[in-house]
Amino acid sequence: MASPVGHGVIGLALARRFGIKSRIGLVAAALAASLPDADIIAGAILHGDPWKIHRKGTHTLNFTLTAGALAGLAGLIAAESLGGERDLLLDALAGAAIIGSHIPLDRVPIPTLSRGPSLLGMSLSNWIIDAAIWSALAWAIWPRAADPEASGAAPSPSFPNLQVQLTRRAATAVCIGAPAACGRADPVPRR
Ligand SMILES: [Zn+2]
Repeated sequence: MASPVGHGVIGLALARRFGIKSRIGLVAAALAASLPDADIIAGAILHGDPWKIHRKGTHTLNFTLTAGALAGLAGLIAAESLGGERDLLLDALAGAAIIGSHIPLDRVPIPTLSRGPSLLGMSLSNWIIDAAIWSALAWAIWPRAADPEASGAAPSPSFPNLQVQLTRRAATAVCIGAPAACGRADPVPRR
């Protein structure tokens, strides 16, 4: 099983894979990946027992895929539009994959340690194991590209670019001061 942290980081990585870059879209994806566990809150409110209806209706493929596709179509989880046109099919698939990822993640057996301090009913070591495992998978899913814009990073002058610029400026300065050093003839004949 995965904790909300695990579901969140996988939802985030899947969202990036589907080209979602906006902050709102990424936050929505991270929250949506944990949506099926809302049955814990519903159980507590409706039945006074958080686990009464846990992993029933909301933990089915029907629910997760439909809710995900609707979230995608509604634009809650939406990729960057190209020329103002949204790709509705892609958004629906992204939403379905993000919320749908909850079911297989809940079925993955994770080693549990019951010793030590606990937080929200789970031992602290389990929170750490869970976060480490799912963060590693999220890192593997996260898109990588040579183009900084494709990886979601704000385009900024990278260190090598800065180095090239500084080298060019230094070379220009040398050429102005001593044209012969650049292999150029002195444009102004000396008298
Ligand atoms: Zn769950």
